[in-house]
Amino acid sequence: MHAQLDQIEASALAALQNVSDEASLESWRVAYLGRSSPLMGIFDQLGSLPKEERPQIGRRANEVKRLLEATLAARAEELSQAALMRTLQAERLDITLPGRTLARGRLHPATLTLRQISHIFAEMGFQVYRSREVETDEYNFQMLNFPPNHPAREMQDSYYVKTSADRGDNPLLLRTHTSPGQIHAMREYAAMDPDDPPPIRIILPGMCYRYEQVSARYEIQFNQVEGLVVGYHITFGDLKGTLADFARRLWGPQTRTRFRAAHFPFTEPSAEVDCECFLCGGEGCPVCKYTGWLEIMGCGMVHPTVLTNGGYDPQRYTGYAFGMGAERITMLRHRIEDIRYFWGNDLRFLEQF
Ligand SMILES: [Zn+2]
Repeated sequence: MHAQLDQIEASALAALQNVSDEASLESWRVAYLGRSSPLMGIFDQLGSLPKEERPQIGRRANEVKRLLEATLAARAEELSQAALMRTLQAERLDITLPGRTLARGRLHPATLTLRQISHIFAEMGFQVYRSREVETDEYNFQMLNFPPNHPAREMQDSYYVKTSADRGDNPLLLRTHTSPGQIHAMREYAAMDPDDPPPIRIILPGMCYRYEQVSARYEIQFNQVEGLVVGYHITFGDLKGTLADFARRLWGPQTRTRFRAAHFPFTEPSAEVDCECFLCGGEGCPVCKYTGWLEIMGCGMVHPTVLTNGGYDPQRYTGYAFGMGAERITMLRHRIEDIRYFWGNDLRFLEQF
């Protein structure tokens, strides 16, 4: 039986030399380690051997079995490596092809301007205050010193919102300006300490809506950036200094500004701010309509009635406010001649920014 085991071992190892793929390796396993292989036959016969021969034959049979199993495992590993190499060769990537470019999105031009304005005011210590787009008549007009039938309301034809209950003289509408946010902000700050409300220094950016005849100059929606500063001893000088500094940071360090008297119900005194034309430097050009100046915003000292409505005592506090249109500033900067491009969703326009 020793001779038989030697022979099984030799012929199994010899046969393995001819195994070249995984299928023939499996046939080899069945032939030499399978249930009906000669080696297993020897294990079956162990019981019938004389008692003294049994341990020796058994030990030798186990030795052969372990050797064949180890050889099988090694050969299986070799074959799978070889198969992997063949696959890699056959399916080699051609990395000389140019990659496919990803379509990248970009920010809307009005958003870019809003971000730049926010950035400038952030450097001056202003915080951003977000306020709702659907307002009550009370906040949008009455609290801002536009009483019912005030003629200034007609400058701001509005989109009213239908409600199930009749709200009388306080209907809901889409805000026509960001100014109602002034009242929300002042009341929120005043609530922190009603006896001694903290100072305020905020900008209020966001979309506003007016019922306009849409044209190259007017849209029914536009972004406004409002600013509000309230505190002790705030003067018109602070207002001028801040807005002149803003203009220099926006258009360049040489930019000059001028303030023209104006009227708004919620500020007194009020002014409109012009910047020297950044294109012609004040010489006169088509963009500034040959005046040398560009009108960029309205501003003024917060009206005492508005301070009172916000919870600030106008005997102790003063403040200033200003407001500008993000699209108008974008139009001036990029010489865009038609405001309808902003919300027309034409990629040929939007992809230029
Ligand atoms: Zn000009």
